[in-house]
Amino acid sequence: MLVQQILSSKGSAAVVTTTPETSITDITRLLSEHRIGGVVVSSDGSTVEGILSERDIVRALSTKGPSCLDDRADALMTPNPVCCKRGDTTHSVLERMTEGRFRHMPVVEDGQLIGIVTIGDVVKARLSELSMEKTALEDMITGR
Ligand code: AMP
Repeated sequence: MLVQQILSSKGSAAVVTTTPETSITDITRLLSEHRIGGVVVSSDGSTVEGILSERDIVRALSTKGPSCLDDRADALMTPNPVCCKRGDTTHSVLERMTEGRFRHMPVVEDGQLIGIVTIGDVVKARLSELSMEKTALEDMITGR
């Protein structure tokens, strides 16, 4: 299965982005309002500059304390995150997420952000793929 199929199944929902100068306080509101765990950081809404996840905020709270809520997004984000393309397989995306220990991956085409996939999206896609393969193998063995 390809990343494009995940994007199609998720519908045309726009990717939530934030600017590098947005405060961490405002980002906690954004994450909570959209019920998401990570946000792409971009000055123009389409060039990926970084990614900021709830984990970055929790880490900063534990090391720096509540004053980190006044920091800018670019102070806590991971710059130049690993991105994928719509033609990448879900298998390769899952491999990169597992190796890098992250759960979000922006989808970029010609330098422009076109979507985002989460580990939840990818696991769901792989499970449905494996279930279809199992049925096909059973049908082949039993001659159905
Ligand atoms: P996550 O598991 O996605 O919530 O993120 C865990 C850590 O990895 C955080 O420090 C994120 O900033 C970072 N991170 C998230 N997504 C990516 C990505 N696609 N590439 C590189 N780092 C990432």
